[in-house]
Amino acid sequence: MRQCPSCARRCEPCLICPECGAPIAAELDCFAALGVPRRLTIDLNLLEQTYHELGRRLHPDRFASSPEPVRAASLKATALLTRSYRTLRDPVGRGLYWLELNGAKLAENNQRVPPEIAALVFEVQEQIAELRGALGNGAAAALSQRREALKSLMTQANDELAENFVRWDQNPGGPNPRATLTSELKSVLSRIAYLRTLVRDVDRGLEAGRAA
Ligand SMILES: [Zn+2]
Repeated sequence: MRQCPSCARRCEPCLICPECGAPIAAELDCFAALGVPRRLTIDLNLLEQTYHELGRRLHPDRFASSPEPVRAASLKATALLTRSYRTLRDPVGRGLYWLELNGAKLAENNQRVPPEIAALVFEVQEQIAELRGALGNGAAAALSQRREALKSLMTQANDELAENFVRWDQNPGGPNPRATLTSELKSVLSRIAYLRTLVRDVDRGLEAGRAA
């Protein structure tokens, strides 16, 4: 139970006092902070609406002349709200956060680069080096083509992530389905992280090539 800093009512942890509407500096997970169900498939429009609505009600300007504890609660609740929204809005951030909630971390058992990605990393670095060696327009064209291919792998990985989210929300019972879903989730998030890095490297390579 939490106590409202304004009317002193004790209530279940939440960001807004149900009695007087004052902000409450509660420690909540991202889903609870936004008052959305703890699910991986999210209606992003609804999430955004909720975020703006709560943001207005918690805004520090509204409590500028309130006692210090109320102002402090407003700042803290607003920060938590914003952090929660940013985490949940992005599917990758949401997936990483989900792992955390389930006591798993991406870094664990994840030191090895997936083999299909390892080959890709090597090829891309090679191509960027060729462009740096100023082997003419051919190298730049090949790298642009590579960028498109990486983008389509990224789309594929994002689709797989969305499918994994749906399967979680179908609420699998028992430890095994959850263990499988966790390992799938880790694997696809790790692939997305590598692909993001590769696309960034390619973009830098292309930029450097244009500047040369
Ligand atoms: Zn209150």
